[in-house]
Amino acid sequence: MTPPAPLELTVLGAGPAYTNRVGATGASYLVESGGTAVLLDLGQGSFPRLATAIEPSRLDAVVISHLHPDHFIDLVPLRHYLAYQFSPPRRLRVLGPSGLADRIDALHARPGFTAEALDCEQLRGTDQRIGTLTLEARLVAHTEESYAVRLGGPTGPGLVYSGDCGVADDLAPLIRADDTLLVEVSFGAGPVPPGALHLNAASIADLVRTTRPGRVLLTHLQMGFDPAAAIRVVAEASDAPVTLVEPGDVITIDRT
Ligand SMILES: [Zn+2]
Ligand SMILES: [Zn+2]
Repeated sequence: MTPPAPLELTVLGAGPAYTNRVGATGASYLVESGGTAVLLDLGQGSFPRLATAIEPSRLDAVVISHLHPDHFIDLVPLRHYLAYQFSPPRRLRVLGPSGLADRIDALHARPGFTAEALDCEQLRGTDQRIGTLTLEARLVAHTEESYAVRLGGPTGPGLVYSGDCGVADDLAPLIRADDTLLVEVSFGAGPVPPGALHLNAASIADLVRTTRPGRVLLTHLQMGFDPAAAIRVVAEASDAPVTLVEPGDVITIDRT
């Protein structure tokens, strides 16, 4: 049997909802493997980086973790690109929470606006095939319908992406040995304020102690938090490499 092709993760945007870090655009991660291309989230300002990394209509699917603008709002330029750049317009499959198309339609006060280029399906808890990859999705504590996902196959390491997540243990069922964990660390080395459904470095440290991913990629650090301190807290809990990702980073995940 031929071994599964590696996953190549390209970070297009790794910012939170707002920031003073120039270029820290909204969450967006391109995953390519053996001819399959999947986009995880498309937050504010990240469409140009997507269009630089890949011709967007070549994507097999876009996966949206939840309906906060820093994770989905650049579906608007993606929809325009598909509808106006090509004749006839091209279409893309979008998997996300229920109500995604209605939310984008409402921005333009035009029912059917989204469906002119995007085929939206509800992301379900069951495994879904996208090209050569399998997508697993699990509900996590954040909005009413927020998902974390794992991209991979039946064997070998994969990529687990937290989306935004308020309870680190919600991610544990997705993580298999040697997976790469791409996880939000909104509150860095600081405490999580009461009621804020996001993670900090200490909660990720507890998670990696029990789940033992092969690599930890931190992201979505909020304005004013120290990247080095966040990395240090997680690294103390794990033998695996821990980094904070930036746009332009390319990470290869070997699946053999
Ligand atoms: Zn967010
Ligand atoms: Zn959010």
